[in-house]
Amino acid sequence: MLKYLRDDIKDLLAYEVNEQDVSIKLDANEGFWRSDGLHRYPIDRACALRAKLAGIIDKTPQELLLGNGSSELIELVLKAYLEAGETVVSFSPTFSMYRQFTIIHKGVYRDFPLREMQWLDVDEFLAFIEKVKPKIVILCNPNNPTGTLLPKADILRIVCSVDAMVVLDEAYIEFAHGPSGDDLTRDFQNLIVLRTFSKALGLAGIRLGYMLAREEVIRSIHKIRSPYNLNTLTQKAGLEALEGGWPTDRIKLIKAERERVKQALEASGIKPLPSQANFLFFSAEKHMLDGLSKRGILLRQFSEDLAGYYRLTIGTPKENNAVLKAIKEATHETSKL
Ligand code: PMP
Repeated sequence: MLKYLRDDIKDLLAYEVNEQDVSIKLDANEGFWRSDGLHRYPIDRACALRAKLAGIIDKTPQELLLGNGSSELIELVLKAYLEAGETVVSFSPTFSMYRQFTIIHKGVYRDFPLREMQWLDVDEFLAFIEKVKPKIVILCNPNNPTGTLLPKADILRIVCSVDAMVVLDEAYIEFAHGPSGDDLTRDFQNLIVLRTFSKALGLAGIRLGYMLAREEVIRSIHKIRSPYNLNTLTQKAGLEALEGGWPTDRIKLIKAERERVKQALEASGIKPLPSQANFLFFSAEKHMLDGLSKRGILLRQFSEDLAGYYRLTIGTPKENNAVLKAIKEATHETSKL
């Protein structure tokens, strides 16, 4: 949407790559030593992968832009819309990179606390937005690190009410019981949905994320995207993964394991928040963490306001069993102290 785009970008033309099929291609200063095609630059807009993905998620390829992980896409949104000194709003706690990227792009980051770390009071959030007048509002749904889900009606209300671009980061949406907000992009020019292959598709190593938005929004983002941002190997791996079918069974397994681990933690006196993602978030005594780390198990720890809170990724059933066993042992060890 042009309204929120940075003024200096409005007239910029996207870098266009000539991908004409020719017999002798000598226009891109590539070397020529390899027979596997890797001496060539990648297909700039990843046509084959984009078309395949668009078919699966019921969008047109023009409503999709791919990136080097959804991390790159968050940054592209900030690059496109945020002028120095303008504000980005999100809630807290949430994904720490929103703050990081905002500061890197010379913005001002303001966060709004979730009630009991889970509930967003939408009336108050909207009043906060009215006061601080952000250019960009970022909603992480399900939220990292809490795993909690914002109801779709709340998302709709926020998108309708704010005079700002809204980024709906759905990195974990495949693990949620609630619906995605991706069907809203056609109706709202100020909405961008971000997804990733790093979580439910189990391909964090290939660095592949995608953005869904109206065609004119995607055209604006192409203006500031670096040419060839999606390398050839990633395009190939992404396409192969999709041709293998959507990993419904693996997602089901992770959701079932999430509930099993949650119940076992509860039996040990730990109270994780209700999670709609592939991790659990809870507070625990430090000795618990020490007990896990002694057994070679790493959890995500937090500092400052979240000191004493931990985020545990749902692993394979074997890994989860090891975690539960270690927690039991650690609890037992301290009860003997
Ligand atoms: N959004 C959220 C909420 C995340 O938790 C993460 C990674 N942990 C990302 C985006 C970035 O994911 P990636 O760059 O791997 O797509």
